[in-house]
Amino acid sequence: MRENFLVPRDIEDPKFGAYSGTSFEERVLRAYSLGMLETKGDDDKASLKVCTYCGGKQHVRDDCPELL
Ligand SMILES: [Zn+2]
Repeated sequence: MRENFLVPRDIEDPKFGAYSGTSFEERVLRAYSLGMLETKGDDDKASLKVCTYCGGKQHVRDDCPELL
C-alpha cells in the first residue's frame, strides 16, 4: 500500500476512521476505500487495483482470494 499511495500526515485523524484497535495499515486501507488517498507516480487512482481486505494488488475486494 504505502509504496503506491501518498499517505497523508493526518492519517491518524478521526476523519479517516481512526479509532483504538485499528492498525496503521487498516487506516490506510480505509482511507483508500473512501477515495481519500492519492496515488504516487503514474498510477491512475481509478485503475490501480488494491484490495481493501488483504491489501494485495492486482485485485479488488470483490475478487479477493482470501474471501472466496
Ligand atoms: Zn485481497
